[in-house]
Amino acid sequence: MITRLVVLGLGIGLAAAGAARAEELVLADGGKSAFRIVVAPEASPSTQHAAKELQAFLEQMTGAVLPVATDKEPAGPHEIILGQSARLAKLGLKIDLKSLGSEGYVIRTAGPHLVIAGGALRGNLYGVYGLLEDHLGCRWFAPGVSRIPKTGRLAIGPIDDRQVPVLEYREPFTFDCFDGDWCARNRVNSNSGRLGPEHGGKVRFASGFFVHTFDRLVPPHQYFEKHPEYFSLVKGKRLKQHSQLCCTNEDVIRICTEGIRKAMAAQPDATVFSVSQNDWHNYCECEKCQALAKAEESQIAPVLALVNRVAQAAEKEFPDKAIETLAYQWTRKPPKTLRPQPNVIIRLCSIECCFSHPLATCDSKANQDFRRDAEGWSKVSDRLWVWDYVTDFSHYFLPFPNQRVRNDNIKFFVKNHVTGIFEQDTYNTPHSELAALGGYLTAKFLWNPDYDENRAIDEFLEGYYGKAAGPIRQYIDLIHDRAEREKIHVNIWVPPGHPHLTDELLVQADRLWEQAEQLAAGDAETLGRVKLSRMSVDYAIVERARAAAGKGPAAKSPLLPVAARRFKPFTETLASSGVTRLSEGQALDLPAYRKGLEAALGLAGGFSRQREPVEPRITRIARIGVCRPRSSLSSVSVTSV
Ligand SMILES: [Zn+2]
Ligand SMILES: [Zn+2]
Repeated sequence: MITRLVVLGLGIGLAAAGAARAEELVLADGGKSAFRIVVAPEASPSTQHAAKELQAFLEQMTGAVLPVATDKEPAGPHEIILGQSARLAKLGLKIDLKSLGSEGYVIRTAGPHLVIAGGALRGNLYGVYGLLEDHLGCRWFAPGVSRIPKTGRLAIGPIDDRQVPVLEYREPFTFDCFDGDWCARNRVNSNSGRLGPEHGGKVRFASGFFVHTFDRLVPPHQYFEKHPEYFSLVKGKRLKQHSQLCCTNEDVIRICTEGIRKAMAAQPDATVFSVSQNDWHNYCECEKCQALAKAEESQIAPVLALVNRVAQAAEKEFPDKAIETLAYQWTRKPPKTLRPQPNVIIRLCSIECCFSHPLATCDSKANQDFRRDAEGWSKVSDRLWVWDYVTDFSHYFLPFPNQRVRNDNIKFFVKNHVTGIFEQDTYNTPHSELAALGGYLTAKFLWNPDYDENRAIDEFLEGYYGKAAGPIRQYIDLIHDRAEREKIHVNIWVPPGHPHLTDELLVQADRLWEQAEQLAAGDAETLGRVKLSRMSVDYAIVERARAAAGKGPAAKSPLLPVAARRFKPFTETLASSGVTRLSEGQALDLPAYRKGLEAALGLAGGFSRQREPVEPRITRIARIGVCRPRSSLSSVSVTSV
């Protein structure tokens, strides 16, 4: 978990009044402050930005504006010393900056001063957010929705807080969470986050080399005609379409190496380059590839042998860069003796798993098998990352009882020596099922796996839904308790008819959201968020009602009248929401969707019409990498957001 010393001065004194105690530092009182913020003039862009952020949030909290000064100016009586500077050196605090890496930091009171010192890249900035969040009570729930406590007097007790994140790569891949300020404030370094130099950048995958790069490195349209032997031999035939590479072919190794070295030279800011299988099966069955796979008892052996060769060739010239490959589907099992090179990252994918129960304890075969492989990789890979899944890709809006496994699963990964986590959520449309909550929880646990789950859920609900928080918490517990109690496994492609939902449960859920709307009624902004979030239960209701209506007059679903009532508010909210798709691969054609529902529910002419369910029309397919059912063999394009 996070390496941290016990914080001595958690008593923040937000509401404390009266004279300063001896051990207190009064940062502001009555709109005034005796402090100023000191940074070196040559400090990194993110450290300079950190000073401005600290100044702005302290002003929001107290009304006091702390000036930002450089260490070239004479020392003041009270200073917040930010980052490495002549002033910090003068204090002689013996802070081992090197041990903090690029993202760790120390927050420490030192006599009349407060010191925040960390890695120049992002450590000083994260230290400022650490002070504001962990010690002063600020929270950034979603872009535009924060909690910044207001106080007339802001005092801190003694603090000695050292934090170094246990995960080097932390990405909630959620559409609602790509805002750069939100990412930095929640201390995530997402590849997809709009993080600029002022945020200290991010973990950057090379453009075009995020995942599934075999076809890009050795394009079949360029090579297949003259060199079919570069591609997979499947059932005695070399494949051009939906092929993988013949990874033991020396020419293939050479072409991949040249491609990666060229990309590394062209993209000096990127640090991770994927050399990984295409997003389908069809590995090479040639004698050489299979001899290796057999000896290593895993189909990853030929792939890893290729990846290792590329990594060896790039290592000296590009020591700061890593080659990533997938342990995914047919390559998920770790090899017997082959080991990844030190500059190789293995990205283990949990695509087959159940996510209504923790990966560590769910008794489904999928999770048992995944546990075996995760534990295996933890023993053989020094740099193990994970590609994990946190939404229903077939039905982005379907209630998914996976909020309460996020913390358990991140803990499971960390226990198995994982150092980077990509949580693939709804990434190509906003406002999917509890998206903002999921993004917030993920960010909290990625920075600190020990962050209390209930605290994180409740503070989010209070901050984001205000007075409506109570029934929404009841709703979350309702759907999670059922999946836990009834041992219902839920994977990432379940339909609305899946047993983790029942008509009766949705009737109850509808009542809770109705209560939530009533409680939020006096606050237009909060009410807007409640209505957007309610679309999830509405979606389940109308889709299950659609299926029931399709069965004819004998269907006596209690959801039919609920769906009739919710149809209008649901489709109206959907129309104004900015939602562009209801599932991963299918753009939403709202008029067609609405018309289809209306007809199926009999709202256009009574339930007696009993038409067949009408599916929304597919208008555009855009898929990303590792997120499709194994049976799907359609072509993919990697989308960077
Ligand atoms: Zn082969
Ligand atoms: Zn399960």
